[in-house]
Amino acid sequence: MRVLILGGTGEARELARIASGERGLDIVSSLAGRVATPRLPVGPVRVGGFGGVEGLRTWLRENAIDAVVDATHPFAARVSAHAAAAARELGIPALHLRRPEWARRPGDLWTRVPDLAAAAAELTVHGENVLLTIGRQGVGAFAACAGHRFVIRSIDAPEAPLPARYELLLARGPFTFDEELVLMSRHRIDVLVTKNSGGEQTAAKIAAARTAGLPVIMIDRPALPAGARSVGAVAEAVDWLRAAAAHAVG
Ligand code: NAP
Repeated sequence: MRVLILGGTGEARELARIASGERGLDIVSSLAGRVATPRLPVGPVRVGGFGGVEGLRTWLRENAIDAVVDATHPFAARVSAHAAAAARELGIPALHLRRPEWARRPGDLWTRVPDLAAAAAELTVHGENVLLTIGRQGVGAFAACAGHRFVIRSIDAPEAPLPARYELLLARGPFTFDEELVLMSRHRIDVLVTKNSGGEQTAAKIAAARTAGLPVIMIDRPALPAGARSVGAVAEAVDWLRAAAAHAVG
């Protein structure tokens, strides 16, 4: 069974590693090409957009793909929607692998907001120094926040428009709890802005904000495509692939 894994996450790499070792599974991974030097999964990899639902559908057909696992980041909503639509149109099975969200714990000072624009609007009730950890894309939503000074952390540099006052920290996780606490203290951070990405790689900032008593503006995830089948763990996706392969053979 030929499987396309839509990647760009640690979970996608883990799934590609395990599934590549399974008999009867032929895996190809796909990356968007956003990161200049990405961490590559095991096995064949293709890079770049497909050209919308139509392009993806054509690619799936031309490459004789039998099943799709969308293991992209929980905030990569467009490609998830495209994967669901293309698979449905071709009548092939699709699964969405989404790591669990971070849950609020005692001591957390979270304000949950639905999107980047709402996060920017929410800043008006917070202090001046903002730690912005939403990735390279979407920083433009904060460009008009003239009253704040941003520490923007991302893997590659964001593109304009950017806020008037900012400092750029180019870094790739994982980050430790101690590193996050030092960062927050050194920059006299008043508020943390983050997506509810979940997972271990970047969770330390949430614990550090809790310990430091800092408020967090937590951006909620976009919804999965309607009717999507989803699992939260790589092992469940492996089970799903095994069952789909057995079904394909049977
Ligand atoms: P998006 O808004 O859902 O996708 C935008 C377009 O990028 C898609 O329409 C598709 O182009 C292309 N694309 C996205 N993921 C792709 C993949 N794995 N393989 C081939 N094409 C892909 O996605 P995004 O938020 O820009 O994220 C891009 C990639 O970065 C994703 O793969 C995601 O896993 C990773 N990532 C995203 C975030 C985040 O916060 N959004 C964080 C960490 C990693 P076409 O329509 O031309 O096919």
